[in-house]
Amino acid sequence: MAKVKVMETWIGACAGCEISVLDTHEALLPILEKVEFVYIPVLMDVKHIPKATVGIVSGCVRNSDNLHELLEMRKNCDILVALGSCACFGGTPGMGNLYTTDQLLDEVYVTTKSTKNEIQRHPYMDGLPTLLPEARPCSDYVKVDAMIPGCGPNPAMIAQALYALLGVGEYKLSEKSVCDECTREKKERNLKKILRPWEGTVDDTKCLFEQGYICNGSATRAGCGARCPSSGAACRGCFGPCENAAEQGSAMISAVASVYGLDDDPNTDLDKFVADVYDPIGNFYKYTFASSFLGKKVVEKTAAKK
Ligand code: SF4
Ligand code: SF4
Repeated sequence: MAKVKVMETWIGACAGCEISVLDTHEALLPILEKVEFVYIPVLMDVKHIPKATVGIVSGCVRNSDNLHELLEMRKNCDILVALGSCACFGGTPGMGNLYTTDQLLDEVYVTTKSTKNEIQRHPYMDGLPTLLPEARPCSDYVKVDAMIPGCGPNPAMIAQALYALLGVGEYKLSEKSVCDECTREKKERNLKKILRPWEGTVDDTKCLFEQGYICNGSATRAGCGARCPSSGAACRGCFGPCENAAEQGSAMISAVASVYGLDDDPNTDLDKFVADVYDPIGNFYKYTFASSFLGKKVVEKTAAKK
């Protein structure tokens, strides 16, 4: 029987998703008997994207080369799979959308303390890809047929998705939340304090959110087996929003606000609340800022009040 032609590429990404594919370990062996990789830059040097049945893309669209690669992949495959949080939601590079491209390049090439750039210029060469104004998820540009979220994605889900593409079993994203999968003891949600990850001593049995740590489990799609809370770390939300949730970040902000007593006490000091909830973008939109309703920071210059 002819093997199924598959291609895989990474665009605006760190290659962690490719490591997750390798982490499927022996589950990969029967798959490799049935598929032929016809394009996979991480493993082989093929200059042009051929035709294939399945195309897998990791990473967000951050520059002109990423966009070109994504459009070519879409044009040449029947089924396009977005692998990892960057491809699905924009991922951590999406937080760069808080800044202009000039600010980003300044930070990397000019102003950081460890940089020595006497001519104060950004690198430039004819033919280099240009940064697009924003990092975007793949689905902003092309039709995506299936998503495997996660940073990095869960190897078991990758294997399940690949088997399903070969006609063995089913691949479906969970409709539950990470809290539904988490075995920590949940009682009354009444937040009195917010702790940074390194503060306090974590109780190994109780819900981290109830202990004061910002755990995004209630606003995050299940599928990882509550990997982080079961190891004592709060969920950072890498599986993206729950099914039918419009927005992961605002769902989580609403969850924090409701247990912080904001609904009940009109005298709550909102400034203190906002100050306590440190790094709101990093806490609530770490993986989904590029696909959120916010998507961008708007800075308005207003005349100084007299
Ligand atoms: S908030 Fe976090 S620690 Fe608490 S039940 Fe949900 S996933 Fe578990
Ligand atoms: S617990 Fe949260 S951050 Fe950790 S792997 Fe699962 S979805 Fe991602």
